[in-house]
Amino acid sequence: MYEGDADDVFFCHAARLLGSEGATVVGKANCDEFGMGSLNVYSVHGPVVNPWDIQERRSAGGSSGGSAAAVAAGMCDVALGTDTGGSIRLPASYCGVVGLKPSYGMLSRWGVVSFADSLDCVGILGKNVSSTQRRHSQSMTQKIPQQLAPKLVNERTKLVKKKCTPGHLMPTETSPALESEYFPTAITPSVLSPLRHTLRSLQKRGAELVPVSLPQTQFALSAYYVLASAEASSNLARYDGVRYGLHVPPPPGSPTHASTLTYAHSRTRGFGPEVRKRIILGTYALTADAFDNYFLQAQRVRMLIREDFTRVFRVPDLLAATSRPASLALPSGGVAEESAGVHVLMHPSAIRTAPPLSEGEAKEGGESLDAYVQDVLTVPASLAGVPALSVPVPADEGGDGWPVGVSVVGQWGCEEMVLRVGRAIE
Ligand code: GLN
Repeated sequence: MYEGDADDVFFCHAARLLGSEGATVVGKANCDEFGMGSLNVYSVHGPVVNPWDIQERRSAGGSSGGSAAAVAAGMCDVALGTDTGGSIRLPASYCGVVGLKPSYGMLSRWGVVSFADSLDCVGILGKNVSSTQRRHSQSMTQKIPQQLAPKLVNERTKLVKKKCTPGHLMPTETSPALESEYFPTAITPSVLSPLRHTLRSLQKRGAELVPVSLPQTQFALSAYYVLASAEASSNLARYDGVRYGLHVPPPPGSPTHASTLTYAHSRTRGFGPEVRKRIILGTYALTADAFDNYFLQAQRVRMLIREDFTRVFRVPDLLAATSRPASLALPSGGVAEESAGVHVLMHPSAIRTAPPLSEGEAKEGGESLDAYVQDVLTVPASLAGVPALSVPVPADEGGDGWPVGVSVVGQWGCEEMVLRVGRAIE
């Protein structure tokens, strides 16, 4: 697990804050190259084997699979990871640990290599919800601004009074329409029945369950891969082999335009196949011809997805309310009135339990659509910038014996509420 100089982890601001709170940093963990991947097969160090049962050689999930595996194997209590489209929640689900993707912007990204800045979030993986929560609050640079805090306190009080209203994005007998809308591929029954069980137990304890619909989330996966690739192509342009990154000189006897060749040779050698694919896709999406159809369209879809979340949540979107121009300011002083709606959303974290590594490795450099589909349930919260927590729940007897994670998603800034529900279900 060790790699590089032990001190260099302190270039990451979140790690530095944890260090100043007494955390001991024990090492750096493996991950997919530049955080691109869902199965951890795109690492020069080789794949992370899921420690749940080493013999079976299943994926620890990606991209922060090393962090999840380190926690699951008992090498540390908590680990830092990044989550751009699910890279904390998916490994957490596959490895049977807790994973929190905070609200976008809640934890500093200082020291983190950018993949897609408008989505990248630093977050925590932990053995349980309490340790995750503790380290999350210690790694925060800023707390929620004072003028917004009372609204959140109110919401917390409601939860204490057991009036929590989780909506669920799952196909049930009562909401068959959701099945076609939200799930493009069949979710395996082994992840659905533990979720149903969890929802029933919350219900017994006073939670009110409301099936909800977020119609635009069916476009989330496509929008995510356009936006994330576009941002990645721009971010990774700095690896030019001259000022930054691996330098591969052109072969001897090359023609005079050698500087262009240096760029081509350095980037061809320096990037792995998945990263090269994203750069090509992203560059295409940003070209003048494709910009309207791909990049702009994906941005519009992202706005609609965010509106979907805001419509179903009881807590108003604090960011939208505060970013209104003065002429549109809300009478309540910047915070929208509380509406009807749910406190949190719940859904399976992944469409299946950890896939065998052989399935992921077979796809390397070739057709990798299956890996992309693993993210279908996690990318909506990433595009909306809202907090999402994956908590391991007891697996069903009919399942394959591997961990199953349930996700709790809340409005921006409502980490405490999400973690409170997380504690209730673990
Ligand atoms: N699996 C997704 C991707 O490959 C998400 C990665 C991440 O969250 N870093 O882009």
